[in-house]
Amino acid sequence: MNEQMVDWIIKKREGKSLTPEEIQQIVLGYTGGEIPDYQMAALLMAIFFKGLSQREIVSLTRAMIETGDTIDLSGIKGIKVDKHSTGGVGDKTTLIVGPLVAACGIPVAKMSGRGLGFTGGTIDKLESIPGFQTRKTKEAFQDLVNEKGISVIGQSDQVAKADKMIYALRDVTGTVENLGLIASSIMSKKIASGGDKILLDVKCGRGAFMETLDRACRLGEIMVDLGTEAGKETMAIVTRMEEPLGYYVGNSLEVIDAIETLKGNGAVDITRLSLSLAGAMIYLGEKATTPQEGEEMAEEQWENQRGLEVFRRFIQGQGGDEKIVDDYDLLPRATYEQVVYAPQSGYVHEIDGLSLGLLSKKLGAGRETKEDTISFGAGIKLEKKTGDYVEKGSPLAVFYSDDEDKIKASIPEGAHAFILKEKPAQKREIILKTIQG
Ligand code: URA
Repeated sequence: MNEQMVDWIIKKREGKSLTPEEIQQIVLGYTGGEIPDYQMAALLMAIFFKGLSQREIVSLTRAMIETGDTIDLSGIKGIKVDKHSTGGVGDKTTLIVGPLVAACGIPVAKMSGRGLGFTGGTIDKLESIPGFQTRKTKEAFQDLVNEKGISVIGQSDQVAKADKMIYALRDVTGTVENLGLIASSIMSKKIASGGDKILLDVKCGRGAFMETLDRACRLGEIMVDLGTEAGKETMAIVTRMEEPLGYYVGNSLEVIDAIETLKGNGAVDITRLSLSLAGAMIYLGEKATTPQEGEEMAEEQWENQRGLEVFRRFIQGQGGDEKIVDDYDLLPRATYEQVVYAPQSGYVHEIDGLSLGLLSKKLGAGRETKEDTISFGAGIKLEKKTGDYVEKGSPLAVFYSDDEDKIKASIPEGAHAFILKEKPAQKREIILKTIQG
């Protein structure tokens, strides 16, 4: 028990602000073992109910950064623009945006995470490519970016170490969903990761952390302020996350989806989103004077398939088999597959991304805990997207798993995830708002 901590818990419980020094002592005390879990949990709950001021969020972010390494990317030529998505279902945008941005001459030096819960992780997707290496020394990583224009490796465990401990505690105390805690958690890792500028894709909707536009915008604003305050130009794009992005959910399945999108055969939502994010990164990388001009540049690299060529080079650079780009049979496949059929005719009005994300995890594509192993070939293919018409008895989706019983058990819920109506759904924009520092 830490006696000062009792006072800090009470202070926050009363809705008062903690000073930067107090916040620093709390973070250091907790990571150093002087403050036990039960006191930190009590403080987190007080924060959950009383909130944090912007000044407190800045102090918390700084204190967490100081508990770990700050990555130095100065060996890489050019302006490094980092990108982060708050997590969605079927979100493989890094695999599409990275090559498009690199094709425009902006170095892509990205550290990504693994999937947890219903959202996937870029590193798991890349590791589904035979031979692909996501662990590199700092030197090898910088050399790859300088030579190939792009490299994506696993996130360092040494960055913002306090965040790992605090996040684990939030996860088991019902205190994850607080804007200040989320913003400081994400931005401590981003600011310490060495990019010169930061682009945030803040997901909004039923398949995301933030269900309402108001909360998503507020989170975006707080994070943009944190980035700006740390001296890194930061931009947030709030984007719709309801149905899964693209046609596939799952690891090797999303690699196929990314390649198909780079080939020009992707779903409209993932294509539009990828081009917008790429445009913003090209603008932040100072190769375009507006995000719109950046988007036009990305579109050109997409149409002339230079993005696809960079993707090949990227896989080859990290030891992967680039032949997968032309032959998807070289990617891991699940043992079993089963079609989900439409119970009636109609227009697809809504697809429940959260439900399909959870089902995909159940099929083997995701993890319940960090220690779980995943099946690279497991997941879901959407045969229909929102707005499409479907005849009764024709396919809505295909489920893939190495466990036949799990597929059978998931089919009824899979069919329920598709809401069918007589009239077509209204068109919904994917980009909801842009927030600039
Ligand atoms: N992602 C993070 O890294 N931290 C959070 O708190 C929420 C999402």
